[in-house]
Amino acid sequence: MKVLITGGAGFLGSHLSEAFLARGDEVIALDRDAQAKVRHLLGHRRFRLVVDSVMNPEILDALAAEADLIYHLAGVVGVEHYVADPYDVLSVNVNGTQNLLRAAYKHGRRVVFSSTSEVYGRNPAVPWSEDADRVLGPTTIDRWCYATSKAAAEHFCLAYRRLGLPITVLRFFNVYGPRLDRLDVGRVIAILLGQLLRGEPLTVIGDGSQTRCFTWIDDAIRATVAAGIVSAAEGQVINVGTDQETSIRALAELMIRIGGGPSTIRFVPHASVYGDSYEDVPRRVPDVRRMKRILAVEATTALADGLARTIAWFRGANADAARPAVA
Ligand code: UDP
Repeated sequence: MKVLITGGAGFLGSHLSEAFLARGDEVIALDRDAQAKVRHLLGHRRFRLVVDSVMNPEILDALAAEADLIYHLAGVVGVEHYVADPYDVLSVNVNGTQNLLRAAYKHGRRVVFSSTSEVYGRNPAVPWSEDADRVLGPTTIDRWCYATSKAAAEHFCLAYRRLGLPITVLRFFNVYGPRLDRLDVGRVIAILLGQLLRGEPLTVIGDGSQTRCFTWIDDAIRATVAAGIVSAAEGQVINVGTDQETSIRALAELMIRIGGGPSTIRFVPHASVYGDSYEDVPRRVPDVRRMKRILAVEATTALADGLARTIAWFRGANADAARPAVA
């Protein structure tokens, strides 16, 4: 089988590429940048990297024509982008998805779309089943542009489903592991890890009581692969994650315990990190029953185990591979 993965050189995409290569499939990764995360795959005879964008309909049409299955993972992710460049977030996540769906529909290709737990916003009634309400803040708070863009993209996916396109929407919950982000940039684990490795205090935003369910990459990838293969997944929206809830303060404490060294915790106010255009999500927990039932996958890796492996990877020689080749 030939699998097209948009965003194939990103964090999830690079791991998904490895998983399909390990199955014996062919992979075409389409990505606009950040080749470092797939540098180790570039010589593989069943792997091809196409450096282009989902904003280019011609390339999508050509690649969709030759693929048997499409994963649409390309998107702009990371709170620093939501508050710095909401235009890019909205444009790529909404228009890029439309471009992809048009090409997939024309060629009749099955699609798996990567959405996010962020679409639930700050709905206080956790855990969230896939049909839970979306509770977002005002449009004047840039942070919500990501949730809005992904929800709009989901609507497009479901509209194409009505036209007969076989499609699955996955909502990922704080997936982490090797190659997550550059140290100090992006998601909380990458930021805290940079501080930990330098022995600096770990910056916990607010009082650290906000929670996330950190999902080990290999668990998320098993669910993602199944979503493209299991026929019962067609037409479904599925949470992908663990329901083990961890406060950010507990995350920081665990990282210090596992990583060792002199780091302590420093509590910092929201506004000092992200400015005024940021609101936090107090609790984020998935209902994972559908994932278990349809995809037959459970995210069982304990946070302590996944963190130990992540810290070891970033400490090791591979740390350089997390830095993008093109700045
Ligand atoms: N966070 C933190 N310190 C940091 C960066 C983030 O305490 O240096 C917190 C952030 O406020 C949020 C959580 O960690 O509550 C997760 O943030 P992330 O940026 O990974 O993404 P989110 O889960 O909010 O989409």
